[in-house]
Amino acid sequence: MKWMPYRIPLFVIASGLAIVGLVYFQWTWMHHSGNLAEEIFNQRASIALCSALERYDELNQQSALLQGRTAVSVCSQTVDQASSLKNDSLFNRELKDALAFYQIPVEYHLVSGYDSIATESDQPQCVINLSSVSGMGQGFLRLEFPEKDQYVLSRMKAMAAATLIILIFTGSVLLFANWLLLRQKRLLQRNVDFFNNMAHEFRTPLSNVGLASNLLLKKHEVLKQDHLMSIIRKEVKGLLSQIERVLHIARVEDGRYAVEKQPLHLAGILSSVMEEMAMQIEEHKATVRFEGSAGDLQIMGDRIHLKNVFRNLLDNALKYGGDHPEIIISIREQATGVLISVKDHGIGFATEESKLIFEKFQRAQKSDLHDYKGFGLGLAYVKTMVELHQGSVRASSEARKGSRFDVFLPTLTHGIHGKS
Ligand code: ADP
Repeated sequence: MKWMPYRIPLFVIASGLAIVGLVYFQWTWMHHSGNLAEEIFNQRASIALCSALERYDELNQQSALLQGRTAVSVCSQTVDQASSLKNDSLFNRELKDALAFYQIPVEYHLVSGYDSIATESDQPQCVINLSSVSGMGQGFLRLEFPEKDQYVLSRMKAMAAATLIILIFTGSVLLFANWLLLRQKRLLQRNVDFFNNMAHEFRTPLSNVGLASNLLLKKHEVLKQDHLMSIIRKEVKGLLSQIERVLHIARVEDGRYAVEKQPLHLAGILSSVMEEMAMQIEEHKATVRFEGSAGDLQIMGDRIHLKNVFRNLLDNALKYGGDHPEIIISIREQATGVLISVKDHGIGFATEESKLIFEKFQRAQKSDLHDYKGFGLGLAYVKTMVELHQGSVRASSEARKGSRFDVFLPTLTHGIHGKS
């Protein structure tokens, strides 16, 4: 289908979606990482608080032993007792050391209270349970970090920067690739348009040469035997048919072309092609054998184009079929249509080229090596026309054993002998 600049090609949409997906994925990943970093922070702060309390209890016990009194551990104190820890220089020193050891260089407040206060607080907190007081609930001692969010974010700066760089890099590469692809497509389209225009411009003068040669033949009957005249007519005819192929394919690709279909007898089409190509077959010293019969199978199709399809296949079988081409045309009826195969024993092509040769201007490597004349348009035309008839075409080849082209066309009547 012809590419139009105002249509957004699929790959641009796909790239856009890929970028959106990537941004979403990176954002989710960052969010998870943030949560994880906060969790780790809380765990560390809790451990630091616990170890500071343990150490503080230990030191208190040692000094109590020396002074001959019993020390009460913080965990079994009430909230009122524990709240004095805020101003206890020994505890504050131990807590600072523990926080430094667990790498938490953030401002903190030590808060004590009962359960209900703890749950109401939206401050980041690390809680140590104190002894419970009936009616008041469980006592707690917690650390609050007013700047925790800023700290966690600052720890993620490197990750955020790396993510941003990856996003910018990937986005730029995708944008650049899209820009390049669009540019290439535009250039390709420009070349195709130029080629199509050129073909169009060549058609009129070539048709005129053909007409002039016909008139000349009418005026001078002797020229019919002239070798040079027959070369002129043959080459003009060949060039005109190549130009017609280019223009037909271009019109189909543009969506400007519709085949004019009518019920046709397959047998009639094939015999007419054989008649028109009789001279060519003779020139190549070729033999054409039929396997199966078209009977009265009917196809809904365009006579001229269907004839051109088989003419192209036969033409190729003669061109690439070796010295004395042996061509087999087999006709096999199928459930919904007919399969017509054109087989030769010529140079064949590599299996991996069996799809490529149906593309415009593509030729099998062997053909280039052996310098066979051609533009690589015939099979593109065949494929385009067969598909316009709701059919399909397939090529297969075995090295040095020749090639086979299978054309499937839907039929109007089923059954070789006219069943419908
Ligand atoms: P052209 O014959 O003008 O090059 P076609 O489109 O008809 O263009 O064919 C495309 C290519 O397919 C040919 O160049 C040739 O390489 C390969 N090919 C077509 N028919 C045959 C065949 N019967 N045997 C081997 N190769 C073939």
